[in-house]
Amino acid sequence: MTMHKNLIAGEWVGSEAIKNINPSNTNDVVGEYARASADDAKAAIAAAKAAFPAWSRSGILERHAILKKTADEILARKDELGTLLAREEGKTLPEAIGETIRAAQIFEFFAGETLRLAGEVLPSVRPNIGVEITREPVGVVGIITPWNFPIAIPAWKIAPALAFGNTVVFKPAELVPGCAWAIVDILHRAGLPKGVLNLVMGKGSVVGQAMLESPDVAAITFTGSTGTGKRVAAASIEHNRKFQLEMGGKNPFVVLDDADLTVAVEAAANSGFFSTGQRCTASSRLIVTEGIHDKFVTALTEKLKGLVVDDALKAGTHIGPVVDAGQLKQDTDYIEIGRKEGAKLAFGGDLVKRDNPGFFLQPTLFTEATNAMRISREEIFGPVVSVIRVKDYEEALATANDTPFGLSSGIATTSLKHATHFKRNAEAGMVMVNLPTAGVDFHVPFGGRKGSSYGPREQGKYANEFYTTVKTAYTLA
Ligand code: ADP
Repeated sequence: MTMHKNLIAGEWVGSEAIKNINPSNTNDVVGEYARASADDAKAAIAAAKAAFPAWSRSGILERHAILKKTADEILARKDELGTLLAREEGKTLPEAIGETIRAAQIFEFFAGETLRLAGEVLPSVRPNIGVEITREPVGVVGIITPWNFPIAIPAWKIAPALAFGNTVVFKPAELVPGCAWAIVDILHRAGLPKGVLNLVMGKGSVVGQAMLESPDVAAITFTGSTGTGKRVAAASIEHNRKFQLEMGGKNPFVVLDDADLTVAVEAAANSGFFSTGQRCTASSRLIVTEGIHDKFVTALTEKLKGLVVDDALKAGTHIGPVVDAGQLKQDTDYIEIGRKEGAKLAFGGDLVKRDNPGFFLQPTLFTEATNAMRISREEIFGPVVSVIRVKDYEEALATANDTPFGLSSGIATTSLKHATHFKRNAEAGMVMVNLPTAGVDFHVPFGGRKGSSYGPREQGKYANEFYTTVKTAYTLA
């Protein structure tokens, strides 16, 4: 098996190889990938630093062309890359192809943004002086990504970083080096000068930590757990570095008495259980008013009975495996915690056996949960959802907002009054009306509040807040 190497200063390097295992079939080795050391990370940072002066002054047409070429190749190879994604991460093939298309769209969008980075010209308050406000690249950007969106999250961080003239050291999650390697290979062949984009696959505690400790990394964008996010923050403050964090969610989906039942059930099933519940925007708290509660639980349970849990690559699979043994243990531990806390297991809760050895878990629904239970407060990151019964809209809104997180918040209602009030008062970065809490567009801002996020928003034109720094220039006429 050929080893996929790290890219440092334009060279593919690496010796120690790690096996990438398919969670639908642990006998299937997706590929072998190099594991970088702390010294590799330092070399990558040095290469990115050396490449910065030239790349930061490169022509916008050159950057546009490289990003556009990358978008085109990803799109042309969507089935192959989607298959790789489904094989290494475990989301279903249609979901994985969808995510691959989205990565292509993101590269295409930021190809365009290279041509649209605008500044401002203002008169000074003093006579005969002009003021120009321009945006400049920040420097070496460290990109640390999680395993749950192996191609889209790297795309939405790498594309704006490069578009606006930064150089990059990219460390993907250990579980999903395949998609990371594939997009770096595409960008490299698309013509990036050496050192502009460096790939260091490896352990967070080694490679990631070396990035956190380097004074030469000017900005770090991170998506992952709250615990690691706090380390990124502390280390970045130490180095007076710009940082951006996307962490967990415990997203509420409110269902009011006047909801369209079909819309509510589809949205809850989709955002609770699709992608095996492994999305930071997943709805894990269904907050349901008394009048519709029993009907909603019955209809949702019926829907769950029809969902097929199986190999991510099999046609007809609705829910693929959990990503690995560690995450599966976390999910089953929380199912046990929910039982002990007194929530009622209305559906699922058990592991399922399929033809191949994999990490298959039934979609699991708790009812009679309270918002104070650990299963309602802590992010599980699996196909485990609790239903919380409430009296009315006011209690539903208060319950939805009573969480340390604030990423996405949804409501199912046919009432314009409640929808409008909810949009204004939900304490979240994103609000969904009659739509799943998960599932966002690539051209508008993404991000949350409270414990979910820190720093400027990602994606869309707002991405330039993080990936550029503002300069104010005064000129005597
Ligand atoms: P998850 O639970 O989703 O794996 P993590 O926060 O552990 O969340 O991982 C997200 C990313 O952060 C991964 O790429 C991981 O390797 C990286 N990471 C983990 N520990 C550290 C660390 N100490 N410093 C920097 N990056 C880290």
